Amino acid sequence: MKIGILSRNRKLYSTRRLVEAATSRGHEVRVIDALKCFMNITANDPNVYYQGKESYVEELSFDAIIPRIGASITSYGCAVLRQFEVANTYSINESIAITRSRDKLRAHQLLARKGIGQPVTSYAHSARATAPLIESVGGAPLIVKLTQSTQGNGVLLAETQKAAEALINAFRGIGSDFLVQEFIKEAGGSDIRCFVVGEKVVAAMQRKAAKGEYRSNLHRGGSAEMVKLSATERRLAVSASRVMGLDMAGVDILRSAHGPLVIEVNSSPGLEGIENASDIDVAGKIIEYIEIDAKRGPNKPKGKG
Ligand code: ADP
Repeated sequence: MKIGILSRNRKLYSTRRLVEAATSRGHEVRVIDALKCFMNITANDPNVYYQGKESYVEELSFDAIIPRIGASITSYGCAVLRQFEVANTYSINESIAITRSRDKLRAHQLLARKGIGQPVTSYAHSARATAPLIESVGGAPLIVKLTQSTQGNGVLLAETQKAAEALINAFRGIGSDFLVQEFIKEAGGSDIRCFVVGEKVVAAMQRKAAKGEYRSNLHRGGSAEMVKLSATERRLAVSASRVMGLDMAGVDILRSAHGPLVIEVNSSPGLEGIENASDIDVAGKIIEYIEIDAKRGPNKPKGKG
């Protein structure tokens, strides 16, 4: 197959591993920077063009796309991917599903509609709603989360009622969009990343926050190790990625006193941490899945909303 990887940087571990896995299985692979693509939006002949060095322009054509669209270019990256979809090109994750997963509020609403367990989460616009917001998640300690947060940057723990009020008012003051969420203390700064491909969790790891930290993101100094999932956790991870309409997803789960809870479904999950922690060839599993799934033809929109 001719596989296109939409990625801004071919040197990134995940991109390199996907190239390696695809090449070793006999596929032709190209890494394409979405920001160097442009498109013509016509009904007759929708295409994606690539601006190479200087003024060299070529038309792109692939049998399958693996989108690795970073949060900073979600909008343009998804527009390029959508154009490939208009031209009937298969993509392991569709643009609509990536857009859904990037907005935490939308994602929580979609997951809630399908009964997927999550921490109690609240959202409000009005400044007068601060007290009821805090109350609705059971009071402090609580988590305040920017809806567009990645790598734990916009996830803050308010330990007291006063700190919660101050944080909420500060975020409101600067016009940020945020969620207020029950703090799952018993998770003890750990979460579980389930790497879902199709209908299966192909690898999983437990991430532990660094000392004194409550966020377990590897980018924040967290460490990762192999973990055995319960059948319930596996089912939950696969259901969450199904609801979002993703065929490749990193589903993050907290082990709470009342069962596993989904906190995030990531549409461009990194491969480095999970391959190292699990010793599983996740890149190979992705390519293997595409070989079968792409034969079923270009994607039909999966999930809703
Ligand atoms: P991001 O997308 O910015 O990584 P997450 O929602 O995944 O944001 O949160 C980052 C980390 O913060 C999680 O991996 C987890 O360790 C911790 N965390 C997030 N939400 C909660 C919560 N409600 N209770 C306890 N810890 C949380």
